[in-house]
Amino acid sequence: ARASIGVTGLAVMGRNLARNLARHGHTVALHNRTEQRTRDLVEQFGSEGDFVPTYSAEEFVRALERPRKLVIMVKAGAPTDAVIDEFAPLLEPGDIVIDAGNAHFADTRRREAALRERGLHFVGTGVSGGEEGALHGPSIMPGGSAESYESLGPLLEDISAKVDGAPCCTHVGPDGAGHFVKMVHNGIEYSDMQLIAESFDLLRGALGLEPAQIAETFRTWNTGRLDSYLIEITAEVLAHTDPHTGKPFVDIVADEAEQKGTGRWTVQNGLELGVPITGIAEATFARSLSGHAGLRQAARGLAGPDRGSAARQGVPESFADDVEQALYASKVVAYAQGFHQIQAGSAEFGWNIDLASVAAIWRGGCIIRATFLDDIRAAYRAEPTLPTLLTSGGFRKAVEDAQDAWRSVVATAVRLGIPTPGFSTALAYYDGLRADRLPASLIQGQRDYFGAHTYRRVDREGSFHTTWATDPRVEHEA
Ligand code: NDP
Repeated sequence: ARASIGVTGLAVMGRNLARNLARHGHTVALHNRTEQRTRDLVEQFGSEGDFVPTYSAEEFVRALERPRKLVIMVKAGAPTDAVIDEFAPLLEPGDIVIDAGNAHFADTRRREAALRERGLHFVGTGVSGGEEGALHGPSIMPGGSAESYESLGPLLEDISAKVDGAPCCTHVGPDGAGHFVKMVHNGIEYSDMQLIAESFDLLRGALGLEPAQIAETFRTWNTGRLDSYLIEITAEVLAHTDPHTGKPFVDIVADEAEQKGTGRWTVQNGLELGVPITGIAEATFARSLSGHAGLRQAARGLAGPDRGSAARQGVPESFADDVEQALYASKVVAYAQGFHQIQAGSAEFGWNIDLASVAAIWRGGCIIRATFLDDIRAAYRAEPTLPTLLTSGGFRKAVEDAQDAWRSVVATAVRLGIPTPGFSTALAYYDGLRADRLPASLIQGQRDYFGAHTYRRVDREGSFHTTWATDPRVEHEA
């Protein structure tokens, strides 16, 4: 045995993680169901470091130093279970099985419990940054036991992205905590992408700008507080011209957004935990709506407002700047909601997740990396139990300062018939949270009326029911 770690599953992600490990001086055992992938890796990249190619499960396990560290990077779902079932019987107590694929955190909890029974550590870890990230430094979100992190952590930190010298990798919490945080990361990513897409649509629809001009606007925004990977790549996509037609690239791509399902998991979990992650939900549904080609075709003739030059005259001069403010404020809401979800998940499953550390490891390597996350880290560092990002000093001021522009943008969108589910729901969330009174009292009245569900009063303790059908003057304490 001479490899300090092994990777099984050598498609694009596994191959790049293995190369990243080897480039950092670690001896890496290699394994893949289809042998050819292993041979290809060694043939193409063998000179990058010390690889130990293996061609059976037994050979792979024998190549690993104890406690063995075995990274599984295969298709999520049944394939991951198949691989675990294949390797677990060959391992010994104390060995560490790492699932770096995009598993659902509930599967990770189940697998962790099953392997713990056999004395094995199971580390479900989120990895973000796509194939480039895997090779050059991803953001890594490992769950599992603190004990496993002692020996595994240094390896993962070594290959993760670094921001100001700090690794974008931390022990998130027990069992499914890492995959949970990765799930919310992806949900926030959906939300961020949707808000940016709406900004583009607004600048085009209300100001009549061309994609290349909007690319310039995004480039400018990227030098300020919105500085982020997603804004940066958006500018590149918008500036790109289709080589076949000479048209803007965004105009020749079918406008039906796809999804692999992590946004859906985030929304499902938000519903289960009762956490209003409306930005993520709207972003996920906006993709669904875009994909219903037949439905959209059928609805295409429905009337909308005039968007001609006269209508556009009502658009304020400051519109582009207003959109920047609306985007920033909506983004704060999206992150506030995502962090609320992590807080709730952590409480539900007893994970004790440190929110400042989560923000810290998202600053580099991952898709939502942004300077903004440094501010979130600082906010939670200063106040670990902050109820919502919206009330923390800097964010509070920025959102309050932005609210007029935010309202103006949403109003303009409504007037011109430009769909902005992301901006609109973020603003509604902001207004809902800050409201003195919500019409939820009326809903309680309705519920009590038809279902005797009872209500609480603002002036007395206890639960009450009004006998609506027989005599509404009579109220019983329930
Ligand atoms: P894929 O998800 O396409 O998975 C292909 C790999 O899985 C191959 O090595 C394949 O082996 C192996 N595999 C599939 N079924 C089985 C099975 N039943 N038994 C054994 N091995 C099996 O590869 P990716 O590299 O794209 O992704 C790997 C993981 O990383 C996934 O969980 C993915 O969700 C996650 N991920 C991907 C990101 C990305 O940007 N692509 C980003 C972050 C995470 P074989 O060669 O024999 O077919």
